[in-house]
Amino acid sequence: MDHKVCGQDATHARIAELKKKFGADLVILGHHYQADEIIRHVDIVGDSLELARRIPDIEARNIVFCGVYFMAESAALLARPGQRVFLPDHGADCAMARMARAADVERVLERLSASGRKVLPLAYVNSSLAVKAVVGRFGGAVCTSSNAKTMLEWAMEQGDAVLFLPDRNLGRNTARVLGIAPEKQVLISASGNDLDRDEVRGAKLLLWPGCCPIHESLMKPDMVDAFHSHFPGCRVLVHPECTPDVVQRCDGAGSTAYLIKEVEKAAAEGREHTLCIGTEFHLVHRLMERYAGKLNIIPLAQASCADMEKVDAQKLLSTLEYLEEGAGTVTVEESLKAPARDAIVRMLERCR
Ligand code: SF4
Repeated sequence: MDHKVCGQDATHARIAELKKKFGADLVILGHHYQADEIIRHVDIVGDSLELARRIPDIEARNIVFCGVYFMAESAALLARPGQRVFLPDHGADCAMARMARAADVERVLERLSASGRKVLPLAYVNSSLAVKAVVGRFGGAVCTSSNAKTMLEWAMEQGDAVLFLPDRNLGRNTARVLGIAPEKQVLISASGNDLDRDEVRGAKLLLWPGCCPIHESLMKPDMVDAFHSHFPGCRVLVHPECTPDVVQRCDGAGSTAYLIKEVEKAAAEGREHTLCIGTEFHLVHRLMERYAGKLNIIPLAQASCADMEKVDAQKLLSTLEYLEEGAGTVTVEESLKAPARDAIVRMLERCR
């Protein structure tokens, strides 16, 4: 017998046993980008917005969050008193979130305020809680890839300009939908040393220089063109974290939830046979398996997120083995709670 397979089987069996033992005291949440070895044990699967929305309804004392750090931080913020949130690997961070440090964001916003213009910050949910707290203190809000258009419109109404962070691609793709002219959009540096430029002073949208390396570097415009020419009439759908030149060549762009819904619709209506999906590979692979025989789903790229992959079955098992001791809980600094919550609540109120 293959010892590795035997070991994995034992790991999965023990996870199932511990889940049974904790019963209603435990809920496991998993992001769509998690590997199958995690998803098979998850009670609630979703994208970051869907999972955050579920937190207030969870009554279990222990919430194990299988995703990356900023998601677990938001869960810890939204959890009830006495509830504990665990992340199986605290090193599972998001490369995009790491591109915006709270101290840099604060310095840039202070300099922009000092110039006399009202620049409202809008933070994509893929940012640390410390960044969300800075954004909240400056009157700004959080957005997700599902509501970026609504929130950018809202932010534009509040002041002279908007600072969109950390994802320059989501910022530009959303600005295009809203018809904000390219010359009114300016990419700034994280140091804030270039804020005195005339083009910055005249801009409506300032973009932080962050991106998702998975969606930006591994999905290219020529790949979309190649797919269209090999499969005439078929659709290419991507996540708006892809670069604008990729998004503009595609037949649709939207959040993870949008991509899943489009696949479900295509399968239900039987209106097309081949779909190309440009997002993280674990999700695309599951869709390929789920709709095998009904739809020919092809990934735009074999792009997997190394941070999401840090959470594996072995680490989930260790978390459950030491759950009672409370090892691996995610905590939120007291001073960040109120301003970060303000930024999130502004989004929830606008997108009610
Ligand atoms: S896929 Fe990109 S945005 Fe999502 S967690 Fe990984 S690095 Fe962050």
